[in-house]
Amino acid sequence: MRITDVRTFVVDCSIPPEHRVRSGAGLKLARQAAFLEVSTDTGITGTGPCSFGSANLALAGVIALVENLIKPLVVGKDPFDTAALWSEVYYGVLLRVLGNRSIGVAILSGLDIALWDIKGKALGVPVYQLLGGVYRREVPLYASSIYWNTPERAAELALRYRTEGYRAVKVKVGADYRNDLACVAAIRAAVGQDMDIMVDANMCYTTDLAIQVGRQLDRYGVYWFEEPLSIDDVSGHARLAQALDVRIATGENMYTRWHFMDFLKQGGVEVIQADCSRVGGITEGVRLAHIASGFDVAWAPHTFGDVVTVVANLHAVAATPNAIILENDVTYNPLMTHLAKNPPAIVGGRMRLPEGPGLGLELDEEFIRAHPYRGEPGIGLGARPAWGLACDAPAGRRAT
Ligand code: MG
Repeated sequence: MRITDVRTFVVDCSIPPEHRVRSGAGLKLARQAAFLEVSTDTGITGTGPCSFGSANLALAGVIALVENLIKPLVVGKDPFDTAALWSEVYYGVLLRVLGNRSIGVAILSGLDIALWDIKGKALGVPVYQLLGGVYRREVPLYASSIYWNTPERAAELALRYRTEGYRAVKVKVGADYRNDLACVAAIRAAVGQDMDIMVDANMCYTTDLAIQVGRQLDRYGVYWFEEPLSIDDVSGHARLAQALDVRIATGENMYTRWHFMDFLKQGGVEVIQADCSRVGGITEGVRLAHIASGFDVAWAPHTFGDVVTVVANLHAVAATPNAIILENDVTYNPLMTHLAKNPPAIVGGRMRLPEGPGLGLELDEEFIRAHPYRGEPGIGLGARPAWGLACDAPAGRRAT
């Protein structure tokens, strides 16, 4: 079997004003994702995402880079050689040209996932069977997320997700830390000990403020404290992990196993959140999960994006012993609900594995054609660290 073509397509859905949410990662204006479609001489095709959630990714850049750098490298190659092709792209194009922590790794991720999709389809088996088989046929989910809001509304939303069957919910912090803590307190009071609560600062705290906030999170029995600091600050994460009981989670903005190694070696992470659509595909996600298992670190992939990203991570999680839970986007997102004709079933807060070959998804071509890239960013407001001063809560950082 030989690869004959690589095509990129972008799906772009604007978010109606009443459904827009705000966190330390910005105000979300659109749900966007780029996909690589790899064709072969057998007629089998595979699809892989490089979505970045709804971050302001240079999506037009993805198309140009695939056309100019990736396609010439892989056309004519055997799609079954996933590991060898991974190395060829990584060492040939990324490490020396585009950068090893870059949009290029996201593109490699999309390529790698598309190749796994092809392998499964060619062999007539789901991808998880090619990864060593299943540890679990239903994967627990957490509701993602309760965005910057009032404590009353945060508690109301948590109760709604519990009613829908979720046993875990994430809340966004990193705005005014007093309101952040009031939201966590209100959620805990509303749901009791029935739900796990995750807290996500989107890299918006300083170390000192994160320790202060983290001590309160310990009181509320929060399960993990996500992206408390900039991922540039490895030793700050290690300091938090030492000082706090709550688990330190990070990794959605990180690339390849090498990016994670300093965190693992310094004890700065207790839950890695590597997302297969960004970290280097299913190949790299599973490699990294196995490395993390040697440090007694759990894997809970970030998947805030599109249904192909979720399902790629789902296959990997199903086949990995230290994967504990999967993120499930509960905000307005047509890329979750309408992009595939057969999105995975969710029953009682758990996602069922697809049965079909490859990724097991059938994309809706009509929906894709109706939502072309409009060339506008998906995220507006930027972010910066919060220092915790009472006078330091500019309008852009307040809950809406
Ligand atoms: Mg996050």
